[in-house]
Amino acid sequence: MSSFRRPWQAVDYDALVRAYPPPPEYFESAWYASPEQIERTQLTRLRERAIAAERVPFFERRWRAAGFDPRSIETLDDLWRAPAYTVEDIRKSIDANPPWGDYQAVVPHEALAEPLRVYMSGGTTGKSRPTFYTQWDREVGAVLTARALYMQGIRPGDVVLNSWAYGTHNGAFAFDEALHRWLNCVVLTTSTGNVTSTQRQVELAIQYGASAILTTGDYLLRLADAARELGYDPATDLKIRALPNIGDRRLLESTFGVECFNSYGFHEVQWVSVECPAHDGLHIFEDAFVVQIVDPETGERLPDGELGSICITELYKTGSPQFRYNIMDLSYLYPRERCACGSWLRKMAPFAGRGDNMVKLRGVNVWPEAVGEIAMSVPGVDPDWFVRVVREGNRDELIVSVVSSRAPAEWAAIATAVEVRLKEQLGVKIGVDVVAPGALDALTEADVAPKLKRFRDER
Ligand SMILES: [Zn+2]
Repeated sequence: MSSFRRPWQAVDYDALVRAYPPPPEYFESAWYASPEQIERTQLTRLRERAIAAERVPFFERRWRAAGFDPRSIETLDDLWRAPAYTVEDIRKSIDANPPWGDYQAVVPHEALAEPLRVYMSGGTTGKSRPTFYTQWDREVGAVLTARALYMQGIRPGDVVLNSWAYGTHNGAFAFDEALHRWLNCVVLTTSTGNVTSTQRQVELAIQYGASAILTTGDYLLRLADAARELGYDPATDLKIRALPNIGDRRLLESTFGVECFNSYGFHEVQWVSVECPAHDGLHIFEDAFVVQIVDPETGERLPDGELGSICITELYKTGSPQFRYNIMDLSYLYPRERCACGSWLRKMAPFAGRGDNMVKLRGVNVWPEAVGEIAMSVPGVDPDWFVRVVREGNRDELIVSVVSSRAPAEWAAIATAVEVRLKEQLGVKIGVDVVAPGALDALTEADVAPKLKRFRDER
């Protein structure tokens, strides 16, 4: 049993915190690194990561086909020569090499020597996509997530409710590990409203003085409503001091009297960037990532400031590598300059929708995000929506489902008002149906995914 390593034997913790400082140390050290220091660290780690990724069949195969030699990286710009991949390539890898695909650097039979976790994404439509994490990956990923949570206002020792679904998805566990292992927070593992009722969540948050409730912005506002119904004032009886919740920012800030800091991440790599007090862009944790922006259709490089798809290379993982993963989330990069907060870390814009969702409707390019924004501007429509594209006869049709808390008798009039406004602003007819609050949660994966799903192609 000589190869049996326990989790604490699989990680050199001193090396880990030197390379990827946790909060609060991070915000006193690497946050203020010079551009030269930032890029030197990135280049060193990029070269190491490229050599390691080449041992994974998925990358070896694709790189050989593209004529990319990982030993040829001499500058950060050389990364552009490596071929990118999308979720489609991951799906093909799983189909050709079931059940895990050939993009993993570790697999279950190695678990004695290398303690593993596995989390799944994309279960609702199509096959689940597994990602394996080594103990090192979990720990560094948790450090990155802890950095974002710290900037957002969570402090070591706080009591925090984790209302994300503890399921096969990484979301709840990534937060849990960040809070417990790197911020010494006391986590109340309530999970979603299906597991711990909304009323009980409110009572627990008040009894234990929780400083944050990790969930969607929408559900947090629902908890505020439930608190009011129980006779509490959400701004004073709840002791919320941090809002790591994505949603209606202004409404969240006014309801709880707390400043909101945006952040970005996704489950294969955990947290990538967080907004600073200047509230002008999200600083990328550049000791762990290189972020590139590419044209969603062609994959070509886009200049700073131009909206395109995020293509990510992580600089820390020892399990499944992510080396130029075109995640198809839309954002843009700021040029590297010193921020008002003093940091030189490069900034990106907040998540601005999905790059693979554009639909051509009778010659007009329509983004589901634009449909949702316009629909929500109609009185009586709540901040929640879902768009589907379907094939009717020989043409494509878009249907947007919007949510209303008003009486069902008013829904027909609301649907007409939304339809008229969409036609005015987009120039095409889009179908509208109105549903009750919560009715879209299964489609948007509101309980399990930090970024809500807003679109489904049913053609
Ligand atoms: Zn800043």
